[in-house]
Amino acid sequence: MSKKVTITFNGKNIEAEEGANVLQVAKDNGINIAHYCYHEGLSIAGVCRLCMVKVNGNPKPVPSCNLTVQDGMTVDSESEDIKEIVRWGLQFHLANHPLDCPICDQAGECVLQESYMEYGAYDSNMTENKVQKKKVVDLGPTIMLDKERCILCTRCTRFTSEVTKTHDLGIFERGNRSEIGTYDNKPFENDYSVNTVDICPVGALTSKDFRFKQRVWYTRTSPSVCIKCSTGCNTEVSHNKRGAFRIKPRKNEDVNGLWMCDKGRTAYQWLNSVDRYLHGFTVNGTEKKHLSTAEARSMLKTHLSQEPKTGWLISPQHTVEEYEALFGYLKSSGVPNESVYLWYDWASGFEDFDGLLIRGDKSPNSKGLAKVAQKFGYAFDVDRMPSLKAKAFSQWVIVAPENMEPHTGLEKLIKGFDANSSIWLGSTRLPDEQLETCLKLLIPTFNYAEKSGTYINFANKAQTIKPFRTPNAQTEDLVELFTFLASVE
Ligand code: SF4
Ligand code: SF4
Repeated sequence: MSKKVTITFNGKNIEAEEGANVLQVAKDNGINIAHYCYHEGLSIAGVCRLCMVKVNGNPKPVPSCNLTVQDGMTVDSESEDIKEIVRWGLQFHLANHPLDCPICDQAGECVLQESYMEYGAYDSNMTENKVQKKKVVDLGPTIMLDKERCILCTRCTRFTSEVTKTHDLGIFERGNRSEIGTYDNKPFENDYSVNTVDICPVGALTSKDFRFKQRVWYTRTSPSVCIKCSTGCNTEVSHNKRGAFRIKPRKNEDVNGLWMCDKGRTAYQWLNSVDRYLHGFTVNGTEKKHLSTAEARSMLKTHLSQEPKTGWLISPQHTVEEYEALFGYLKSSGVPNESVYLWYDWASGFEDFDGLLIRGDKSPNSKGLAKVAQKFGYAFDVDRMPSLKAKAFSQWVIVAPENMEPHTGLEKLIKGFDANSSIWLGSTRLPDEQLETCLKLLIPTFNYAEKSGTYINFANKAQTIKPFRTPNAQTEDLVELFTFLASVE
């Protein structure tokens, strides 16, 4: 166990871990110290010079990011002379900043804007013209750069040097001409690039996917867990009643630390009504007919009682609780192991790992599915789905994934079904309406924003999700659906 020390911070006693830096201790204790370059996931740069504090026994103010707590230390971050130092520091940061807050996508979550309101609020002393730089720089597939807004904090360059170790970004030129860029103007593309947008304290780096879609003050954030691979990164989803707009990482030292990959950020798209089913339907030939929840349930029940030779294809993208209800039903109805297949999803190798976060198993709950299946006496290997090619059954019930990436083999799978024979239980809209006509019945189910439950990640860590959107009344909770089917058997 690490040793604790006691320091006095703005007159209050605070316990801190020995070896911690003063700025992080302040943040952990809700004390606001202005800073731009410090980030807890990166090395100390000490370039912004804003986080100055007074310390007993030290004749001059010092940067708190590079100051280690000592037992008995007295720190002051609130006195008038410290505020004056921050004000001066801010003037330098704002000397060439364009102050285009009204059109900046970072407004509402800009640290520069916040510290100006807290410490600055002065009329500018600048008489010279600001240095003008390029404002719309296409940095790569995910990010736009506004060079004028950059305050050269070096967070983004340190991220690519220290976290991804891809060294994509650097600072070029000198003095007030210094600017962020890529070497030889190569596109900035790595699997974790959008983390630089999250850590950029100003609106210099913006995400192409999110920029200009919503003002952040019109959204609220809800905690969630990424469902795009078995790491299960902790996330927060920004959303409002019009839909979901972006996903950012949520700190969890045991799972993803402070980061997430770019792919995981796209999982908000299926939550929006254009990308998800809101009503069930039946298909006759190519004719689609909408069904109420009661009609869909009744049709499913009739099918299962009249067609005992139905195969089950189950995705590992659902919760432990849903699998409990599903396997409880399969067991009670006498469905044998040979009739149950798993829709494992992997892009290259199931066990692949990129050394940072991304795993080959593209589902959040393969472990949970295996665990519950085993509990009910079902056993599978990872290769179970390819044997579908043998067309063991002419009718299938598919408990579908939410992740509809092309590598899931979706199109090929559905086209392989007999026409109007199979039943689809899923939330995400099929990528091509034509594919829907291959089905007999589709029942829309809750997605990860609408349900509560547990995922078990690759390391056997159980993580819970909670609903943050109200599901449409015509969509089904899989737990309720299978409990209903088991009760009417
Ligand atoms: S682009 Fe943003 S993160 Fe990078 S140096 Fe400039 S202000 Fe800092
Ligand atoms: S590493 Fe995996 S769990 Fe994490 S954000 Fe990416 S896809 Fe999601």
